[in-house]
Amino acid sequence: MLLLFYFLADPKPKRIVVAIDGPAGAGKSTLAKRVAGRLGLTYIDTGAMYRAAALWALRQNVGWDDMHRMEQLAIAADIELSPGRIQLNGEDITEAIRTPQVSSGASKVAVIPGVRRAMVAKQRAMGERASVVMEGRDIGTVVFPNADVKIFLDADPQERVRRRLRESRARGEDVSEGGLAEQMKERDQRDSTRADAPLAQAPDAIYLDSTRLTEEEVEEAVLKIVRSRVTNGKDFS
Ligand code: C5P
Repeated sequence: MLLLFYFLADPKPKRIVVAIDGPAGAGKSTLAKRVAGRLGLTYIDTGAMYRAAALWALRQNVGWDDMHRMEQLAIAADIELSPGRIQLNGEDITEAIRTPQVSSGASKVAVIPGVRRAMVAKQRAMGERASVVMEGRDIGTVVFPNADVKIFLDADPQERVRRRLRESRARGEDVSEGGLAEQMKERDQRDSTRADAPLAQAPDAIYLDSTRLTEEEVEEAVLKIVRSRVTNGKDFS
């Protein structure tokens, strides 16, 4: 009732933030894209931003542990996200950031507090400009602790590996299941144990296990939550 009053009383549409966090391969990107598409919101892949910083570091020969230079790179990085694409300093790097080396590098640069500060500032600016569905590891805990809806999306480790394997093979990569499982385990471990903004479920996030659900079922579950909490049953567009 209060929400309805708020919507009727406020002539300018409120900006909405839907935060989706969870480990690698849980289905965050697929879900976030679908929900953004259905509701007419902007989709923001924050993992792609850490990947962009890692790619730049690789190209500049900056070591993962060079905290000062890594922070400078992260601040200077001009990152543009558009539907399905990412640009770094004017160059399209959409495919270049999907290599195993960049995946692992992203989680190494993501432990550096200065890098996180720079990325969080960019992400908050994006959320100021538009209503967003933002996915990552710390969106509901750090980037937007007041997000309208917070989802923590999870799945069995084996299922997450299978999903990533399908994606990698679809891109034509020659990866073994064992090798990929090892990489993902190492990355999840680093992401969940780092001191600054580790992967964690916000206390007010809704936990969703996607292991036995289809993409459509996960999407419908989240749309239901968003509609009940934010839009009084209506879509935005
Ligand atoms: O989501 P994706 O797998 O592309 O993210 C790559 C890496 O970026 C993650 O393993 C994590 O270390 C880092 N990341 C992060 N915080 C976010 C999003 C991604 O630390 N919000």
